[in-house]
Amino acid sequence: MPIPWQAAFLANTLAFWNGILYADGMSAHVLIKLEGLNEEPTIVSDCVNGEELLELDQGDVQCKGSIRYELSVRLYSEKELVVDAQLNVPLKLRCERCLREFDYSLPVKAVINREVSAELLEVDLAEQLREEILLNLPTYPKCELADLQCENHDISGDFGLDKAPLPGVNSAAASERSVWDVLDTINTPPAP
Ligand SMILES: [Zn+2]
Repeated sequence: MPIPWQAAFLANTLAFWNGILYADGMSAHVLIKLEGLNEEPTIVSDCVNGEELLELDQGDVQCKGSIRYELSVRLYSEKELVVDAQLNVPLKLRCERCLREFDYSLPVKAVINREVSAELLEVDLAEQLREEILLNLPTYPKCELADLQCENHDISGDFGLDKAPLPGVNSAAASERSVWDVLDTINTPPAP
């Protein structure tokens, strides 16, 4: 059991290191220098580490590699920053239907408005760009997104759940295929 001064020392040390390690939140930055900007668009293009910018949890959507961005930056009345952003986000997705992983480059377009004060030398757009990308991430990724043929792609539109129309069978299925057809191949043992 630590005596009080040791406990206080430990708490202070932890707070100190927390302050240093987590003072800045995000590790990725997209910095725009404000000097010389005006109403004429200035083009800024570069890359930012995708994993550091998006900080996605391990899930069906992962960002692998660098996000390329091209920003058209304008400054009005020396305080209103308007940024037309175009980004290409390299994603690794998992198809919701067949569970296959595939690569996809997600294009994102966004307009960012930011009020800036006169004494600022530069602004960091990382957080706003992150939000724009997150809003554009596919919610239910499917192979078709990357022009891939999905194993479980439903061509007929009826998900093959109804039996195909057969003589004597009243079925609503539009296709000739059915997921239930596999049952026809099962050999039923003769009744005792
Ligand atoms: Zn698929």
